[in-house]
Amino acid sequence: MKKNKQKIYLDYASTTPAGESVVSAMIPLLQKDFGNPSSLHALGQDALYAIDEARRKVAEFLGAKESEIIFTSSATEADNIALSGVLQKEKKAHVITSVIEHKAVLEPLNSSSAEVTYLPVNKEGVVKVEDVLKEIRENTVLVSIMYANSEIGTIQPIKEIGAAVKRINENRKKKIVFHTDAVQAVNYLPCKVNDLNVDLLTISGHKIYGPKGVGALFIRQGIEISPIFYGAKQERGVRPGTENTAAIVGLSQAVEDLQKNMTEKTEKLRDRIIDTILSEIPQTRLNGSRERRLPNNINISFKGVEGESLLIALDQKGIAVSTGSACASRSLLPSYVLLAIGLSHEEAHGSLRVTLGRMTTEKEVDYFLEQLPLIVERLRKISGK
Ligand code: PLP
Repeated sequence: MKKNKQKIYLDYASTTPAGESVVSAMIPLLQKDFGNPSSLHALGQDALYAIDEARRKVAEFLGAKESEIIFTSSATEADNIALSGVLQKEKKAHVITSVIEHKAVLEPLNSSSAEVTYLPVNKEGVVKVEDVLKEIRENTVLVSIMYANSEIGTIQPIKEIGAAVKRINENRKKKIVFHTDAVQAVNYLPCKVNDLNVDLLTISGHKIYGPKGVGALFIRQGIEISPIFYGAKQERGVRPGTENTAAIVGLSQAVEDLQKNMTEKTEKLRDRIIDTILSEIPQTRLNGSRERRLPNNINISFKGVEGESLLIALDQKGIAVSTGSACASRSLLPSYVLLAIGLSHEEAHGSLRVTLGRMTTEKEVDYFLEQLPLIVERLRKISGK
């Protein structure tokens, strides 16, 4: 196995390490309590009880009923089940989403037979409530807008969009379902589904110091989700397949451990990084909103520098960052999110995403801010720009 020389991890939006309490909660379920939750013997019933407990914790966190929580194998799967599950039985349906959604939302919509309106965003990456309302048609069945963007950290007015959709629904026979992908929001923002006025909400384990390969979907009672997978009847038949008991318990422990009091500390570090880069490195611009921004997100374009070169140079100094969302960074295309907020291809290619987390320290930030200007200067000299 390759040795990991990374000293400073500043890519928490890509993934997070599992917390100690999460690992401790998971281990027994992989070893002595390994039963299949569908088995009727005691070992199986213990596993079922562990899942019930996990469901109770996630439901409590979201302010939902236990029966409204489905565990999935990822947030990608939860998004697919939510969107395709609503659209499955609809004919000539219309959906409203935004151009900066995660691929886990855009791709199932692209491959559906529904008519899809992709709302633009303003230069800060914000979806306007009025724009959602303007696009609603008689055959609109679904609105899906993410809570916070994974690349630029913009926080969307979910509560307001949800309230507006709810008002429209009062006079409609066929109700519009409102989904939000809250994967990036969960660490920092309030997630009570009734306050947010959402019908469907997606979360992911590995973004919140839980394990990878597990997610959860809130499905409001009364919303019909047709299965997109077929098999036995686990997770109310919406997500058949033997439950990943350990991962589900790990996710619920991660939810229980969420530390809201991290927000202020993280925001301070974020602002220090943004202010220092913008004031000390010439020809830089902040991407996304200054105010409506996740406490841990920094996304900056550096004129005349390739984001990839920056990433590699920082990596050589033991600092892990990203050029966009981890899922998009295997492609060399410029980020569609950055293009959507009005960046040129060159500006989008010259961007860096730094995301902070629970373990980020002042000292790590000092080192990053010491190395970055030197690297940018060196790369600019090489490229002659
Ligand atoms: N949605 C958003 C907003 C994300 O940031 C991600 C991961 O980057 C996903 C969905 C996919 O999550 P998962 O890796 O659990 O499939």
